[in-house]
Amino acid sequence: MKPEFAEILFISDLHLSAERPAIIELFNRFINERAIHAQTLYILGDFFEYWLGDDDPAEGLESVFKSFELLYQHNVPVYFMHGNRDFLVQQEFAKRTHCQLISDPETILIDQTKITLMHGDNLCTDDIEYQQFKCKVRNPEWINSFLQKPLDERKEIVETLRKASKSETAMKKESIMDVNRQAVLNAFKQCNSSWIIHGHTHRPDIHRYENNGHTLTRIVLGDWHDHGSVLSIKIRPELDFDVELEAFH
Ligand code: MN
Repeated sequence: MKPEFAEILFISDLHLSAERPAIIELFNRFINERAIHAQTLYILGDFFEYWLGDDDPAEGLESVFKSFELLYQHNVPVYFMHGNRDFLVQQEFAKRTHCQLISDPETILIDQTKITLMHGDNLCTDDIEYQQFKCKVRNPEWINSFLQKPLDERKEIVETLRKASKSETAMKKESIMDVNRQAVLNAFKQCNSSWIIHGHTHRPDIHRYENNGHTLTRIVLGDWHDHGSVLSIKIRPELDFDVELEAFH
């Protein structure tokens, strides 16, 4: 039974991998208990810890695909945005999971309010090394040559990159890896919206900015580590929508 209000759910940064079966189970439970009753589900990047290409058999993640099937059976549309770790998710995956891939940023309308969705890494402009790395691996030539390599070779490359990223991250100042304030204000302006929802930084919070008499709201989704993080927007007839950032256990 659908509840009397429409609920739109947003998640990101689950970092699903066969190495963390408890989080896979938590995601499946979230789908069973919450998402099948929702109007729409948005996944805003880094759903997977890494994705080697749509020909990856994704061993250990079989139940995740079953959950997508369940959403489809319940007529819940799923929108999937790339994160920095799963940007190689392509149309084959979308077909298999009945998801629709969306670009970053993507501006949607909820109850006549424009809301901009992003993964969030584009706002972290202080991390120059990261932005340079992103430019390199998002180049279509790099992607093509990567996808042409055999799976085990791709896996090796990704493992090396993950290790390097871990040790670099450990050495970086916390503030460098958060969003840059000016980049945030620019994004509001460019997208001409007063709401932004994103993930990536793993700092769940709701921030408000006063700008020329307007309130701008930036909602940051948390990562799924010890528990899940979910943003719920409930649309009640003739009322403003409700926004709630929740932990999912
Ligand atoms: Mn990310």
